[in-house]
Amino acid sequence: MKYNFPDSKGYFGRFGGRFVPETLIPALDELENGYRKIRRDPVFRKEYRRLLQDFAGRPTPLYFAARMTGDLGRARIYIKREDLAHTGAHKINNALGQALLARRLGKTRIIAETGAGQHGVAAATAAAFLGLACEVYMGEEDIRRQHLNVVRMEKLGARVVPVSSGSRTLKDAVNEAIRDWVSNVDHTYYLLGSVVGPHPYPMMVRDFQAVIGEEIKKEFGRRGNRLPDYLIACVGGGSNAAGMFYPFISYSRVRKIGVEAGGTGGKSGASLGRGRPGVLHGAYTYLLQDKDGQIAEAHSISAGLDYPGVGPELSYWKEAGLVEYHQVSDREAIRGFKYLCQTEGIIPALESSHAVAFLLKFIRKTRKGENVVLNLSGRGDKDLGIVEKK
Ligand SMILES: *Cc1c(COP(=O)(O)O)cnc(C)c1O
Repeated sequence: MKYNFPDSKGYFGRFGGRFVPETLIPALDELENGYRKIRRDPVFRKEYRRLLQDFAGRPTPLYFAARMTGDLGRARIYIKREDLAHTGAHKINNALGQALLARRLGKTRIIAETGAGQHGVAAATAAAFLGLACEVYMGEEDIRRQHLNVVRMEKLGARVVPVSSGSRTLKDAVNEAIRDWVSNVDHTYYLLGSVVGPHPYPMMVRDFQAVIGEEIKKEFGRRGNRLPDYLIACVGGGSNAAGMFYPFISYSRVRKIGVEAGGTGGKSGASLGRGRPGVLHGAYTYLLQDKDGQIAEAHSISAGLDYPGVGPELSYWKEAGLVEYHQVSDREAIRGFKYLCQTEGIIPALESSHAVAFLLKFIRKTRKGENVVLNLSGRGDKDLGIVEKK
């Protein structure tokens, strides 16, 4: 199968596109042209690769989880250790790539949105590294939930801008960042943190995160030219999942599973499982909506999954049957968190704990001799205040 998305207009099937104010179109064109140029530029590629290696600590290990595999007694479980990447999550892969692009485009100021604070920290890190000014929009609710990351961003020299509109979480932070970008587009670069937003962001962020899946593929090749049987990743906006799945998207025998936040009490972050297509943050994609088509409030115990939308490519994958999506509740995620801590000595992010919890249920359907790779998108230090009371 030949997979060639997005098309020239930025669509993945019927999803994606550019639903933005007219004033942003030239900026998106500039971004797309700049990106297409650097993607082919050997100097850029070399610098990016070097940064990923020496600064971000790539490749991250593909760790064989022996205790977990022994305990569960079915497929062999491998953990892709994005938690060991610099700043503690996969976000740095994208932040470094885009920050290099910002510098190449001659921008002097970076803005970003953040939910859990992991993308804000990654953007602040990349900005500090390149000597660019950085402002990060963050919902007041998330500032409260993820205080440690606020301190990290500030120490890295970024200004954290509290957002008090709406549910005071990630969706509202994206709105404010877009508003800022519209009025400062000449010198400001908007460093988006997931595979969402108007074209070319979903494509660009996916490409920067694809290093995750490429490393997995290479490592399996090295260990006897095999392919994994299952890939499992949590889905917020969809960047760690897209990065893991994309290099395998034409391999139908590799089963790809995205795990959304099932939340609690009827509230969730499961845009693909419980939403309907609509327009949010510049793209046509699956969204949580009420019966009048208003964006519904998302909920997840993990701030990084607490988002009512999802990347348009993941919506395409759902309808094309290329990826399946499941949900895990807040309570199950906590169980996954504790299990990984005590079985493997790894403290996972609550986001990643959703993937762990799903695997704990799913493992019965796998067989001995098969291989599962779990994407551990980030480490859980930031979540200790939340799980402390659980
Ligand atoms: C941001 C984040 C997520 C969710 O974002 P995606 O774009 O869906 O990857 C998941 N895990 C961690 C650790 C994060 O920081």
